[in-house]
Amino acid sequence: MIKQHVAWVCHDCGVTHGKWYKDGEYVGPPNHYATMHYDTCDVCGKHNVICTEPRDYGYLVGRSD
Ligand SMILES: [Zn+2]
Repeated sequence: MIKQHVAWVCHDCGVTHGKWYKDGEYVGPPNHYATMHYDTCDVCGKHNVICTEPRDYGYLVGRSD
């Protein structure tokens, strides 16, 4: 169940749903730095996984937050 507002997204979800990843390959801008930390992923709900903001994955497909 995806929440209304996604604050944190884990790496797995970012690669799967992020617009900067195509078929598992990073296609976003070079030299983009993300602030990774352990948190709860708002997309898959996993706890204590490496998370960052959705914008660090070019935002998630079908979402604007
Ligand atoms: Zn996730």
